[in-house]
Amino acid sequence: MKMLINGNSIDKEEKIAVINPFNNQTVDHVPLGDSKDARDAIHAANKAKKSMNEMSSRKLSRILYDIHQELKEKHREMSELITLETGKPIRDSRVEMDRSLQTLLMAAEESKRIHGETVPMDAAIAGRSAFGFTIKIPLGVVAAITPFNYPVNLAIHKLAPALAAKNTVVFKPSTKAPLAALKMAQIIGRHLPDGSVNAITGSGNLLGDEIVTSNRVNKISFTGSVPTGLSIAQKAGMKKLTLELGGNDPLLVLDDADLDMAVMGAVAGSYLNAGQVCIAVKRIIVHEKVADQFIDQLVAHTKKLKMGDPLDPETEMGPLIDEGAAIHVEHRVNDAIENGAQLLCGGNRKNAFYDATVIDHVDMGMELVQKETFGPVSPIIRVKNLDEAIEVANGTPYGLQAGIFTSSIENAKRAVKEIEAGSVLINKQSTFRTDNMPFGGFKMSGMGKEGVKYAVEDMTRSKMVVIG
Ligand code: NAP
Repeated sequence: MKMLINGNSIDKEEKIAVINPFNNQTVDHVPLGDSKDARDAIHAANKAKKSMNEMSSRKLSRILYDIHQELKEKHREMSELITLETGKPIRDSRVEMDRSLQTLLMAAEESKRIHGETVPMDAAIAGRSAFGFTIKIPLGVVAAITPFNYPVNLAIHKLAPALAAKNTVVFKPSTKAPLAALKMAQIIGRHLPDGSVNAITGSGNLLGDEIVTSNRVNKISFTGSVPTGLSIAQKAGMKKLTLELGGNDPLLVLDDADLDMAVMGAVAGSYLNAGQVCIAVKRIIVHEKVADQFIDQLVAHTKKLKMGDPLDPETEMGPLIDEGAAIHVEHRVNDAIENGAQLLCGGNRKNAFYDATVIDHVDMGMELVQKETFGPVSPIIRVKNLDEAIEVANGTPYGLQAGIFTSSIENAKRAVKEIEAGSVLINKQSTFRTDNMPFGGFKMSGMGKEGVKYAVEDMTRSKMVVIG
């Protein structure tokens, strides 16, 4: 597959192989872009600003609907590509495509609702005879940098709102899974003026630095890990920033919880996409009174998960993104066991596959739960009461989402008030997200919100108009 710069397909002699983690076969190659490609993409995006800015909202909205139609026709092909490059079960890749199409539709709708507000000028002494209002204008060039785990939906969460607000885009997908996103960018690009959407591939460090430090880029919208997000924040200078970073989401199971529901939440939350979800359940905090019963049920359900060929529609869990990622998870689990945690099921690795794993008597100080463990692991932390559960929930530098299972409204209200996270979900696990809700973490999990309406708002700036 090729890069897209100023409407042209750009190839390079040097290429990066995209590997299917299920069978280690090469799915395709992408060009190894360099700094000049990044500069060319930024230049093209700047040149295209005028055409985008002059387009009517009505026309732009219709174009976004047309793109939606074309992507919908490619749903099957795109879903398979996501599965081949990430190892995600095909059933989940189809859901990702459904969500991506929905995200795009929401942006098409939102593109006609971008407006400022009137200002009551006469409320100030100097404004007595003036009229005033704001207009919302594009930022200019938006850079979108995305990770491997939801390569299409996370990209469309940036591209669609940026375009809906008449910005132009420089897009850099993950090197580990660039194909489906690149294909989508090419489809989008064909419907819009040349240079409105540019997509480049290559080293995150090299291209990322060129983009992040450029004074011809007006906003960075980044989704990825905390270390990369931090380095971007340090280098970006006077640019608008949205950072959607890592999570370490807790699931609180209180002694008054519906345990069947809590177990289903834990299974869905811990093992979706082999645990490679920013909002995966990464710590299960259980009241000691119900811990044994909850854990028995959790282990039974975990053992039933069907692991295998991601293209098989029956497969519930595939490999991790690569063997290195699986080894990393293996080390974290082994370290917890060496420090006193008890392995109840799983704990085995074969190449990039890591078994769905339940591990009990985990201590909050262990690396497994202090850091983000991006794999299919359910670490159990037993607690005595809600006070302790909330303390443990807040006991990491992360704060993306949190779920609590309880039948008490008072307990739920306390969790909402006291848990430091961008969302608190009652009787739902943290993996629950709709694409229109405001989404974004507290603490080291990021800054700014996505969710189409909120992302569109963040892709604009206000200009004040005064009529004297
Ligand atoms: P990552 O290593 O941080 O990479 C993310 C993107 O940043 C990739 O495109 C990468 O390019 C690029 N990059 C690397 N170094 C860069 C630099 N110096 N400047 C600019 N860009 C740079 O993350 P990942 O391993 O792909 O994804 C997993 C992480 O993403 C997890 O922590 C997960 O929780 C987080 N995540 C967060 C959300 C959210 O919404 N909060 C959603 C999904 C995932 P290369 O691939 O070429 O290195």
